[in-house]
Amino acid sequence: MKQIVIVGGGFAGINAAKELGKNKDVSVTLIDRRNYHLFQPLLYQVAAAALSPAEIAAPIRSMLAPFSNVRVMHAEVTAVNTSDKTVTTSIGDFSYDYLIMACGAQHAYFGNDTWENYAPGLKTIEQATEIRRRILTAFEKAELAADRQDVKKHLTFIVVGGGPTGVELAGAIGEMSRYTLAKDFHTIDPKLTRIILIEAGSSILNSFDEALASRATRDLEKLGVQVWTSSHVSKIDDDGVEVDNERIQASTVLWAAGVYAAELGNTLDTEQDRRGRVIVEPDLSIKNHPNVFVAGDQANFSHQTGDPLPGVAPVALQQGRFIAQNIGRDLKNLPRKTFSYLDKGQMATIGRGRAIVETGKLKFGGFIAWLTWLVIHIYYLTGFRNRMAVMFNWAWSYLTFRRGARLIIDKSWRMYPEESQQEQNVS
Ligand SMILES: Cc1cc2nc3c(=O)[nH]c(=O)nc-3n(C[C@H](O)[C@H](O)[C@H](O)COP(=O)(O)OP(=O)(O)OC[C@H]3O[C@@H](n4cnc5c(N)ncnc54)[C@H](O)[C@@H]3O)c2cc1C
Repeated sequence: MKQIVIVGGGFAGINAAKELGKNKDVSVTLIDRRNYHLFQPLLYQVAAAALSPAEIAAPIRSMLAPFSNVRVMHAEVTAVNTSDKTVTTSIGDFSYDYLIMACGAQHAYFGNDTWENYAPGLKTIEQATEIRRRILTAFEKAELAADRQDVKKHLTFIVVGGGPTGVELAGAIGEMSRYTLAKDFHTIDPKLTRIILIEAGSSILNSFDEALASRATRDLEKLGVQVWTSSHVSKIDDDGVEVDNERIQASTVLWAAGVYAAELGNTLDTEQDRRGRVIVEPDLSIKNHPNVFVAGDQANFSHQTGDPLPGVAPVALQQGRFIAQNIGRDLKNLPRKTFSYLDKGQMATIGRGRAIVETGKLKFGGFIAWLTWLVIHIYYLTGFRNRMAVMFNWAWSYLTFRRGARLIIDKSWRMYPEESQQEQNVS
């Protein structure tokens, strides 16, 4: 029986495993360093205290339990050895006849790695709860601050990067400060809350139609977000940011400006692009190794349009399934097919009741777009329980302006861990 190893239980890996699970002629091992599949498109809702982590994550083991030929390993893969067809992991080596790499991507700070401490990115549950902690803590500190300048600094939020994640984060903070939290504080004036979305390019959401991107800008402004385009961040520290030589004091800076493919791709010893994505062949295998495939955010597939496909969930999902089907064709001695992405469109949401949707020639925004966004996200959420829980939470927060997960949680049990860190550094 052919041994198939899948690295990563994200959109690509899970869908490859489910497809291969139907083929009883193969034995599949899926390895992930997390024991859960994460629905990243809703991470910003955890960061903005609208949803709890468990509502956007599901155990990989239970998702794949119906497939008796698929086993799940909770381990970190550290290297791929294409010459002897093994992967090295934290729990030992695994041999493969076919390997599917689907490790996703991580944040990139373009050589300014120290910025990460001051401006966390949003890619994992840990980062989302850390961002939530920082946002809620900033409001608490503002409420306590005696000095006007300090209040202003705590109530200034900067989001770097005007793609969908930055827009969603900035919109969610705007909504939180203007509506939800405003009723809970008695000292601070929510109108003082300043949210700045900084984008280096000439417009936000540059993959969208220009008119829709402008509409999103107006929607953000209604939520109190200032959109600064053609602006370059040159420094981030614990006091705020420097943008084109202007210093802005802010206690919360968030990073949504760039990603780099998972570093495990480096061990494949094959061509990568400048963002670390592995260049794949038309069938998603890598050059000289037809039994090694790369899918999702980790892959650079440019055969369809000349440009790499975007790092979005439908690309990963379709590629995962496609690879599994091609392996099935190999086993039946049928020729492989070449991958072709079926693009159903894109969407982004800007706070409560506002979104933009682009699908084929159809382009629209506003409440109907938001409903479309909502239905699609709930549909793709893994697990029935999650769907119901998320729907209930959204309905509740929509009708009442309340947010269910406003918890400041920190491992250190200190109120302001950055201060306890400073104390430790001093002592
Ligand atoms: C905040 C945010 C919002 C987004 N919004 C949208 C959206 O609205 N619409 C959309 O279509 N897309 C969105 N995306 C992008 C989408 O989530 C990704 O394109 C998609 O998750 C890529 O799937 P993947 O399978 O390639 O990787 P991932 O889903 O990232 O999965 C990779 C998996 O590999 C595992 N892994 C990595 N390295 C190792 C290792 N060394 N050993 C073991 N396991 C490993 C990880 O634990 C993870 O489970 C968003 C992404 C983010 C971060």
